[in-house]
Amino acid sequence: MAPLVRFAPSPTGYLHIGNARPALLNFLFARARGGRFLLRLDDTDRERSTEAFAVAAREDLAWLGIEPDLFLRQSDRGALYDAAAERLRAVGRLYPCYETPEELERRRRRQLGRGLPPVYDRAALSLTPEERVALEAQGRRPHWRFLLDHRTVEWDDLVRGPAHVDCASLSDPVLIREDGSYLYTLPSVVDDAETGITHVIRGEDHVTNTGVQVQLFEALGSPVPVFGHHNLLTDAGGEGLSKRLGHLALRSLREAGYEPAAIRSLAVLTGSAEAVRPLAGLDELAGLVDLSHISRAPARFDPAELDTLNARLVHEMPAEAVHGRLAEIGVPEALADTFWGAVRANLVKVSDAAPWWAVVAGPIDPAIADPALAEAAGALLPPEPWDGETWKAWTNAVREWTGAKGRALFMPLRLALTGLDHGPDLSALLPLIGRERAARRLAGERA
Ligand code: GLU
Repeated sequence: MAPLVRFAPSPTGYLHIGNARPALLNFLFARARGGRFLLRLDDTDRERSTEAFAVAAREDLAWLGIEPDLFLRQSDRGALYDAAAERLRAVGRLYPCYETPEELERRRRRQLGRGLPPVYDRAALSLTPEERVALEAQGRRPHWRFLLDHRTVEWDDLVRGPAHVDCASLSDPVLIREDGSYLYTLPSVVDDAETGITHVIRGEDHVTNTGVQVQLFEALGSPVPVFGHHNLLTDAGGEGLSKRLGHLALRSLREAGYEPAAIRSLAVLTGSAEAVRPLAGLDELAGLVDLSHISRAPARFDPAELDTLNARLVHEMPAEAVHGRLAEIGVPEALADTFWGAVRANLVKVSDAAPWWAVVAGPIDPAIADPALAEAAGALLPPEPWDGETWKAWTNAVREWTGAKGRALFMPLRLALTGLDHGPDLSALLPLIGRERAARRLAGERA
């Protein structure tokens, strides 16, 4: 059966590179197997979820090349969760609790003080109907916990192999808050079951949830999907990435001029058995992703690696891929291919082409380091048309006439023609600068 996978962000912040990892691992897993990808917005937290973040999530995924086959949002599906909660109540797996957070915290401290694990003691299970009525008469509203089976849940993890969670060591999880709103656990299971998700691929921070969720699937009589828990991207120090790391938000990276393919390669290949290298196409990456080759160690990533990956992609990029962006910085259509060929090897990002176009089109202030050489070079400029051979023929002539050679020849010419002491190969740049501008610059004029 073709897989159906899902990526389920909460729209409470912008997606960042750490979120790109599960999004892509799911998407590529489905793509490699002719499956489908569901985007689910986990927006049951009404206070923190915003429409702007929901819209941004879809845009950011589209930029990465992810177009979901299916889409849903949890805020539309309350009736399904209510029905599931009712079923759990009917079979005695969902029970009301009245403790306040302060009471729970006191109990937790007492347990820790006695060297006991701070697990909820199920005191509410033994409340009599009269005690409940009395509590409600005081204005207390219940929150609802799922009664776990105290057993070990086992599964064969796509990434980690045989995995287990001992549910006897866990507190019965709260599924419904006092105000009647759902925490993430139940809606996630209900949606996975109702939409027929075959594979749940997510970060290893969800391993414990899986123990609980497997029990929920079973309590609701639903088939249990296959699970895979990948390592999380961390910073170089091993710290997890949080939504507050604004510069690693996908939209910040996009605004900073990174290619989606660089982000994809870094997000997917870091912390796997594959070398991190730039892969331009989604299918190439899909062909490489093997969840069982993901490492158990944290996937430390180095933002500097993004520059390296991006530069390598840009150096290979065909001119057609950047025509639009070159037009935006003023490169005329007729010169786009030649200009791109001249500069791409010098760029980290496509946007770095802008200053080189400014050098070609001018005006720039030339730097005249050797006035006599510049004057002779100006006089020796050949007539147009110019091509890739012009530079060589011209500098040969200048060398013969002046006796200057090597760096003493080339550096003053570069400084005069571009105003800079570094840059793209001048044999490619010179024809773009053209004879008129070259002559004026060699004469020390701003041009
Ligand atoms: N909304 C959850 C999260 O962002 C989804 C986790 C899951 O994939 O089940 O952590």
